[in-house]
This record gives sequence, C-alpha cells and structure tokens, in this order.
Amino acid sequence: MSTAPPFHTCLAHPDPESHVNLASLKPLALALAVTMALAACQKAQAPVETAAAPEAAKPVVDLATLKTPIISFQSADLDTGISACTDLNGFVNGKWLAANPVPADRTTWGSFELLAERSLEIQQALVTGLAAKTDASGTQKLIGDVWATGMDDAAINAAGLTPIQPMLDEISALESGESIAAFLMKSYAKGQSYVFGFGPSPDFKNSTVNIAYAGQAGLGLPDTTYYFDDKHADIRTAYVAHLASMFKLAGADEATATAQAADVMAFETRLAKASMSSEQLSRDVSLYYNPVSIDDADALTPNFKWSSFFEAQGLARPEMFSLAQPDFHKEVNAMLADVPAATWQAYLRVQTIDNAAPFLADAFAQENFNFYGKTLRGQQEMQPRWKRVLNTINGQMGEALGKEYVEVAFSPEAKARMQTLVANLGEALKARIEGLEWMGAQTKEKALEKWAAFTPKIGYPDKWRDWSGLQTDRTSFVGNLMAASEFNYKFNLAKIGQPVDKTEWGMSPQTVNAYYNPLANEIVFPAAILQPPFFDANADDALNYGGIGAVIGHEMIHGYDDQGSRFDAKGNFANWWSDKDKTGFEQRTSQLVEQFNGYESIEGLHVNGKLTLGENIADLGGLAVAYDALQRDLANKRVAQIDGYGPDQRFFMNWATVWRRNFKPEELKVRLTTDSHAPANFRAIGAPSNMTVFAQAFDCKAGDPMVRSGDAKIAIW
Ligand SMILES: [Zn+2]
Repeated sequence: MSTAPPFHTCLAHPDPESHVNLASLKPLALALAVTMALAACQKAQAPVETAAAPEAAKPVVDLATLKTPIISFQSADLDTGISACTDLNGFVNGKWLAANPVPADRTTWGSFELLAERSLEIQQALVTGLAAKTDASGTQKLIGDVWATGMDDAAINAAGLTPIQPMLDEISALESGESIAAFLMKSYAKGQSYVFGFGPSPDFKNSTVNIAYAGQAGLGLPDTTYYFDDKHADIRTAYVAHLASMFKLAGADEATATAQAADVMAFETRLAKASMSSEQLSRDVSLYYNPVSIDDADALTPNFKWSSFFEAQGLARPEMFSLAQPDFHKEVNAMLADVPAATWQAYLRVQTIDNAAPFLADAFAQENFNFYGKTLRGQQEMQPRWKRVLNTINGQMGEALGKEYVEVAFSPEAKARMQTLVANLGEALKARIEGLEWMGAQTKEKALEKWAAFTPKIGYPDKWRDWSGLQTDRTSFVGNLMAASEFNYKFNLAKIGQPVDKTEWGMSPQTVNAYYNPLANEIVFPAAILQPPFFDANADDALNYGGIGAVIGHEMIHGYDDQGSRFDAKGNFANWWSDKDKTGFEQRTSQLVEQFNGYESIEGLHVNGKLTLGENIADLGGLAVAYDALQRDLANKRVAQIDGYGPDQRFFMNWATVWRRNFKPEELKVRLTTDSHAPANFRAIGAPSNMTVFAQAFDCKAGDPMVRSGDAKIAIW
C-alpha cells in the first residue's frame, strides 16, 4: 500500500521476481507484508493525459526469434493414462508438469510465466535499442537511463552503500519520538515509506473523488502469522539471522548486529500484533475504510500529527481521509513514545538498507536474495541482472515501457476479437443472472444494473501517462530509482481531493494478468495476456472460451464475489442486497469455503478456503458464464471434433491448460498464507468439479472424484 490501497482483484498472483514493487524501493516481502496479497497483483501505475510526444521511429522486434516457447493446448500433451473424471489437472497437465520443473531463477513455472518470460525478451530488445539511441528524449530517455545505469554493475558495486548513506546518517541522528516522527514525514515526502502505507484511492462512499488512505505496513515477513505461528518458527530464525547479516554488511560488529537484529524482531512482532492478517483484510474490504477528520486523527495518534504529515507531503488539509486499521496506528503512536530511539534507529536502518538492497552492490543484493528469494520462497538463483533491471523499470515506469511494447506485440485485430468476446460473455452473464433461482427480483434488478455498467478495458490505455518532470541520468541506478520513486509518489498524491480519472490503468500492458476494479466497476485485460493459451486468433472457439473467455467471466464475476458484491453499479460501497438474498448468497459461498478447505496442498497444509473465497467464486461463475457463451456462439455452427475431442471437452481442457503451473514448495507455503488465489492445480479442478456440463462432456459418473454431487455441488452465479 505504498502508493494505493489494494482494491483491485486480479486473475493470478504473479511470480514474485516479476513483480518486485519498486515504487517505494521495497522488496517483495515488504510489499506483501503490507498485508496484501491483493496489493501485489497491481502495479503502482497511474496514467494521465500525455503531452504529445514526438513520433519515434517504430521499434522493431521479431517475435518469431523469441527463445521462450508459447504454451498452447495440444492433444499430444494429454496423459491418457489419467481420466479427466478422476483428475482433470493430471489428465491435461501431468506430462508437462513432470517434464518442466521450475527453473533455478524462478519459484513458479507454467503458462503465465512462459508468457511473462516472452514479454521480458521483447522488453529487453526494446530497452537495449532505447538505451543506444543518442538522441532519445521523453520516456525513451528515462527508460534508456534506468536500463544503462542498472546494467552497470561495476558502478553499482563501486558505490557500495553511498547512494543511501545520507538517509542512514539522518537515521543515526534520531534521538526522540519527536525527531523520529519528523524523519518519517520527511521520508514519505521523498517517496520512501516505512511503518504505514499512504496513497490515494476513490472514496468508498463517493467513487468519483479520490481521498487519502493510510493503512498498516512495515513488516519484513509476508504476513502477521509469520511472527507467531509454530509452523513459521524456522523462517523467524532465518529472518533474524538475515537482519544481523545486513547490519554486519553495513559495518556493525558481531555483537551489535546480533543485538540489533533481536531488537528489530521484537519491534516488528509488536507491529504484527497490532496488524490484521492477510486473511482478515482480504475478506473484509471495509477494513480499509475508516473516514476521520484531521483533528480526530491527531487526537488518536498525538505523537504522530496527521496535520503535520499532510503539510510535510505538500498536501492541503483535507476534510477527511481514511485512517484504516486505527488500532495499528494507535500502536505506532505508543511505540513512538515508549520504544527506545536506538531500537527505532535499528529498525529504520535495516529497512532502508533491505529496501534498497536489490539495487545496491552485489553483497547487499545477494543477502537480500538469500533470505527473500532462497529461504522464504525456494528460488535457487538470483535472476540475471537484465531481468532484474527490467522488473525494476516495470515497477517504476511500466506504462512508459508499455507504450513501446504494444507497438510491437499487440494488434488491432486482437482488440476487435476481444471486444466481441467480452460482449458475448456479457450476454451470457445477463442470462444467468436473470435465471438465478435463489435470488429475488429486487436484488436481481440491482445486479443487472451493475451488469449494464461494466466498463471493459482491453490491451492498453487510451491515453498515456505524462512523465515530464522526471529527471534521470547515466550516473546512478539508485539515484534514478529514488528520483522515480519521489516522482511517482508526488504524481499519486496530486490525485487526492481530485476527480477520479477513469481512463487510468492499474497494470501495464506488458503484464500477464487481468483485474477487476470494484471502485470503477471495470474489467481490464492487458495486451500481454491476449496470447495462447488464453487467446489465439487461429484457435477454435472452444479453446478461446475455455481460456480468455473464462478469464473475462472471472473478472466480471469479481463484481459479484463476496467483496465485489458490496459495491454498486457506480463503484460505491453500498448494499444493494435484500437480507434474504444475502443469506442465500452466503450459504452458497460458505460451501465453497468448505470445498477449498478440503484441498491439501502440501502434506499437512491445506488451502485456506476463506482467504481464497473471492477468487474461487470468480472462477466458478466465470467458467459457467464462459461455457454458456460458447454454447450460444456454437448454436448455429456445425463443429467437428479435433483429435477426437469435441468443443465441450476442448473448452475444459484449455481451462486446465491455463492453470498449468509448477511451484517450489517454499513458494507454495508463502502463498497458502498470503495469496488470495488457490494453487493452480486446485483452480484447474475446483470449478469444473461443480459443473454438470463438465461431467457430461467427459461422460463422468456419480462418485468419480471430479463429480461433486448432492449438497456438495455448488452453483452461485
Ligand atoms: Zn481474480
């Protein structure tokens, strides 16, 4: 939540390496710790009207030369030794999963990652060209500068800690709660956040205007539960050792480093006790909304005056803002008074170093990776520098790079085809809502109002963000990132109190993902997901409906999941449900919680049905809507079997292909606690096992593992 609260719900949680949130120079674990599995699926992006840039020569990248293969559904990949009625995932993906382990520089590997890898290859060709241009200007110069300085490992290593030394010196001089509060305010103004997240988002009650949100953050581990659970004891030990190593790398002796690491762990544990878990936050979006006046906020946290904070950020005093999770802020307030300044110093010092570590000299980057990559997530090797620098560019100026990306990797034909698919899915969804037996006429009317107000966004933004004012050069990587961080922070703050710009995108076009934004009632599909196995202009309808069709349905149904359904057609947080219908809905969703609680992911560790509820509702409804849309599309066509499989079978087989994904076990463990999406293998089977049409397509019998029946069979939308 360094820049904006995490209200968007996305299709899938990306590979962490591909999504380091650099907007505030934070490593992934911190971005996650900020609570939010959801936050990690959106980028800190926010476009506005662009000044007309001079037309650059069209970049050239030959997509045929990319090294990473595309996954598409192939009948030859099927494991015919496994019945679809027993295990659709094993039948479709088993052979591929066994033959394609996770590469050393990743923690997950499958359909999404292969597309992401191709996207990186394209980006590499683009940025190399931009960096070599001697007359680059505008965003092309920005990208070229960050790339060139990021690839200059000699300069990065020679600089050591120098780029952040001024911040460390300021921290060393802190003596009192007062000076610490002042330091925090000043650091935020430069785009560096610590104990809480701060940024704009639409007002829950009036989604046309942005207000400020301040919410819990500041933990170095992925979730509050890591600080207390027995099952995370080993990670805690490793984390304390990591903190000590960072102190030592920065010059502390052994005894000091050990003592400071213990102090920081105690400090964070206290923060964690006052924080809410990923599960709590993911299943009650209202926990982000706590409107208060500045006076009330100042009274709540007298040691941290919000009046001074807003002033320090250069912001006008607002009538109100959302001081989310107020108990957390009260605890920070108490800690400003009763935690010794030396402990605050240790905490701020190690946070500053760890946040910047991925962009500093090798020793720091390696130590950061050893804990956050290797120990926590099971990644064997750091990604090569070129990928890390591209991920950095994507975090800081993803949309600027996206403008270059779509010129070489997205066609108007793909957009047109998507518009037709979205319209077809929409019609199928409308018919399903109208036909719901458990919902009363009044609630249905409201649900259809919401349906009629959906805004789809496809490919890339209609207008590009203006980056003028951001200064970069070829002298310092971290210097460039800090400049971008401050620029992005100020860009976001400028939205507070202003009308919401509905043309903005929360993801860059080169991101392999999709999202629903409940505050705008919009569904968004970046260019990079409009490729096989999701979308293929040359494939039969069945594959496209089972792939991107189900994704479109998934995003639409997010408007009606357990949290999305709390927002109305205009994106306002307002109840449009009758009590009776709400009860009927909750009874159905609680069955889905049970279904996913029943899945054992790793020995002894089950999927968290509550944490993943919204996504599971979206998968179940989305797949049903996509299936209906396919039937409507096929109604007047004669469709031959392909390789002996009919369209219904190919529909479900491509759904499973999308969820083809291997995980490192460590990564899986982090996700089971923090990711609002169930592991891919359960997404492949979870929805189809509730669908009669799936059983019919494969001629499954009652009692087969993929056939849920009686009370266990769930239909919601
Ligand atoms: Zn989703």
